[in-house]
Amino acid sequence: MLVQLAKGMLSVKTGDEGPRHDPYGYIEWTLVTPYKGKSAQLHCGLAEFAVIDGKHIEDDPTSAFEQYIGVTLKSLERAMHRIRSRCKCGCTEFRTMDGYPGETMAVCTECQNIVYCDFDKSAVE
Ligand SMILES: [Zn+2]
Repeated sequence: MLVQLAKGMLSVKTGDEGPRHDPYGYIEWTLVTPYKGKSAQLHCGLAEFAVIDGKHIEDDPTSAFEQYIGVTLKSLERAMHRIRSRCKCGCTEFRTMDGYPGETMAVCTECQNIVYCDFDKSAVE
């Protein structure tokens, strides 16, 4: 998923890391600017660190990253939510359905496409 920011393009990647028998989800934000060597990455998972302009930061990486991109992660998450709040058919009206425990699905009221699926880990723990 890509978000256009004043400084450049921000992409978000999620995945698993750690040993195969005990994988750990992570989220990685990467800002790519039009300027050579200027980029920032924030990795939140088993380890938390940022790489800003090629420099590795482990001391409060989130703040360093937020400062660099000029946007807080909170507002980014809100922006992300807005972006995915539109079905490929253009419809923005969904009804939410509960799937597995802790899972919420949003289904387009027009074409019945599943627009997104949220998994709330805290609901099952
Ligand atoms: Zn739709």
